Parts: sequence; C-alpha cells; structure tokens
Amino acid sequence: MMRILTPRWLHLSNAIGSIVTPPRSCLFPQVLSRRILFSSSAHIVWEMTGKQHPIDSYHTYGWKPDSSLSEDVNFMDLVLLVTRSSKLRQGSMACILVRSAQCSPNEIDSPKNLQYFKTRIISVATNQSLYNENDSDIHAEITALGWAARHGIQTDACTAYITMPPCKRCFAALLVAGISRIVSRYEPPHVIQEAAQRKNVDIEVIRSDTGEQVLRIENFVSMYDHSEVSTSNGI
Ligand SMILES: [Zn+2]
Repeated sequence: MMRILTPRWLHLSNAIGSIVTPPRSCLFPQVLSRRILFSSSAHIVWEMTGKQHPIDSYHTYGWKPDSSLSEDVNFMDLVLLVTRSSKLRQGSMACILVRSAQCSPNEIDSPKNLQYFKTRIISVATNQSLYNENDSDIHAEITALGWAARHGIQTDACTAYITMPPCKRCFAALLVAGISRIVSRYEPPHVIQEAAQRKNVDIEVIRSDTGEQVLRIENFVSMYDHSEVSTSNGI
C-alpha cells in the first residue's frame, strides 16, 4: 500500500538516512528504531522536530510512573494531573493519546520509567474555550487529535486516556482517527458502549472511587508544592 509521508516525516526520514515506509499502525516506532543508530533515547525524536515533548507543555507536579501500578493506572494518574491545567467553568478535562508498545520489540523489555512513558505519549491536551471565555467549547479529545494531525503523527491503534468518558461526538472523532482503546474513570453512556462494541473499540474503566487514586494525586500536588517552598526558602 502506498503511503504518503508528510513533509515533516519525510524530512525526518532523510535526516536518518532512509525513506521510512512503516506499517499502518507503527509509523512512530519505525522512525524510533532507526533513530537507535544514533542514540538509545527514542525521546530525541521530539528534539529533532524542534518542538518540546507534548507533556512538557503541562504542569505534571513532578509525576513519575509507579512500577507497582499498571500502565493504565499510571497514565490515568498523569491525565488527572494534566487536567488541573484546565480551569474552565464547565469542568476540567484532559486527554492523552498513547501509542501501543507492541510496535517496537525493543520497548517491551524497557524499564517502565519516565522516559518510557514519555516515549509512548503522542499527544496531550485539555479542553479549551473558543466561543465564550471560560466555556469548554473544544473538548480535550478533539484538541489532542488535532495536535497529532498537525504534527503528522498517526493515531491508528492508539489508546486515549480521558478524565471522563467521551461524549458522542468525541467518541466518533476518536473512532474515525483510528483510536482502538479508550480508558477513563467511568463507563460511557450505553449508546457509546454499544457503538464501541460494534466498531471494536475497547473501553476500560479505571475507577477512582476507592480513594486511592485521589490520594496519589493529592500526594503529587502536595509534594510538589512542598518542594517548591523548600527550594524558595533555600534561595
Ligand atoms: Zn466531547
């Protein structure tokens, strides 16, 4: 199947020394695997684009993955911390798009550290206002998909971690963008569950009503605030 690379990826491929024609769901890892010739750090791809990593645009309160927790729970912790960057009166939302680790065998055995998680992330967004100040006019899922599209990053077979279940329109947008898995804190409405089942989109629910997740988030925030105070006192 013929594949047309965007100018950015073509530029990346030429810089690496070969034209990359990756399989449909693995554009990013293919580029990364070639990049290993230069560095074991796949994260350097973001430096090659001349842009900062998408997660670095948001305050994450010193978040680091907890190896005792699943990847899903870790990413949900992160999306909840990103959500705090949204202050809209209709509610705070965030979405993180994450590609599958199964595209690159090198990554499966990698230590599940901060670098590993950042390498998996392809887009991060909160909801945004557009028509009225402080209104949630653009939902986080749409912003995250738009960001990926503008940067020539494929979203096929990716997972969307979302603060709350998607609305019908955002679910439709995620579906047509190739998102194959949605992880959120609550079950979406029945109509979305039925559509997801028909279209083979997996929906996972990471419930936070046990209080453990809330406690972890509060710990990140309080520890960060404490370290900020300590630093300023030290100066
Ligand atoms: Zn929505």
